[in-house]
Amino acid sequence: MEGFEVGARLYYEKDGDLSKIKEKTIAICGYGNQGRSQALNLRDAGLTVIVGNRPDEYRARAKSDGFQTYDISEASQLADVIFILLPDELQEIIYRKEIEKNLKENKVLVFAHGYNIAFGLIIPPNNIDILLIAPRMIGIGVRECILNGEGYFSFIGVHQNASGKAKEILLALSKAVGGLSKAGIEVTFEQETILDLFTEQGFGPASSQIMMKPIDLLIEEGYPEEAVLIEFILSGNMKYAFNQMLKCGIIEQIGLLDQQSQYGLLTRGLRYKDIIFEILEIQKGILNHIESGAFSIEWEKRLTKIKFKFIKLMSSKVGFGPLEKRVRKNLGFPEVDLWAETPYPTMKEISVKQELIKELEEFKGYPEF
Ligand code: NDP
Repeated sequence: MEGFEVGARLYYEKDGDLSKIKEKTIAICGYGNQGRSQALNLRDAGLTVIVGNRPDEYRARAKSDGFQTYDISEASQLADVIFILLPDELQEIIYRKEIEKNLKENKVLVFAHGYNIAFGLIIPPNNIDILLIAPRMIGIGVRECILNGEGYFSFIGVHQNASGKAKEILLALSKAVGGLSKAGIEVTFEQETILDLFTEQGFGPASSQIMMKPIDLLIEEGYPEEAVLIEFILSGNMKYAFNQMLKCGIIEQIGLLDQQSQYGLLTRGLRYKDIIFEILEIQKGILNHIESGAFSIEWEKRLTKIKFKFIKLMSSKVGFGPLEKRVRKNLGFPEVDLWAETPYPTMKEISVKQELIKELEEFKGYPEF
């Protein structure tokens, strides 16, 4: 088939030429998870890096790391290249208030996630370059994997090429930030966003349900909860299996198990063959919902944010959340409360609960407010 490309375009360190960007001043806007690691990597690559952040402890950290620090607005005015490394849900508002007015011709805007561009929440002027350098790695790993030589993968892409040089700037910046250390995989902003959202929504919840239900079943059958949770998660066996999958692939790693496990795994897999098509239908629905932009519309609604607050808070109070907390405590695991930062719904938010009641009914078992 002419013109049809099989496989992605991959870029490596040899493809990035740092001389293309050595005169440019780079502003890292947001000195958080990604911001700090990316700023340090870019500076180590010999580039001029400044940091834009609100005056608080993140900014103090940037200062103590030796960067010149500014407000986001000032930093984006001073810089030729602006990395937007702020929480995705705040990018639109911060962009409008602090960044947009400073986008002069031929500046470069870099995102680490395509969401705001893909769904049209941020629409930059057409005289700048818009790039994607999205590490497939958590913030701390972006630094550590460069320091320890392991490297990491990135999704990279050009959304707008106003300068005519966007691709060479993309490759140079990707190299400097460490994004070509394993490989840069060329994708569109839309593809990166949909892959990211779909993995979270299409795979994550299905795999958690498949793990949590049999845990409930075994506990109902009288197996000690500590033993069940150790068997499923807390032994760390699963982590070991994932590492093996990384090393040799999902199928090949089966060969590392004992003979009885291999037989059980390969034969019992067949019993799921019908139900898996039902699951696939649900996953297709989720994918369509994301691709059509319907998920983004849902997420951007004020009412959704309130619904999310109720659901998140309650998920730690009933069912699997409390069970896990109890067992972890009994076994001496450190206590972690990731939901602690979610403030309790305000009286005003509780007053709109009526509007949400139907949707909240889906999450049966949540106690009344
Ligand atoms: P963080 O939550 O770590 O970054 C927060 C930064 O934004 C901090 O510097 C914070 O500083 C600043 N900030 C927060 N609230 C405000 C506000 N209201 N006004 C101004 N500044 C604010 O974000 P991440 O590093 O996790 O994410 C950045 C980008 O990287 C996102 O697009 C994300 O999708 C992407 N990404 C993240 C990955 C990850 O593993 N975390 C992986 C790959 C991509 P302060 O509060 O001091 O102002």
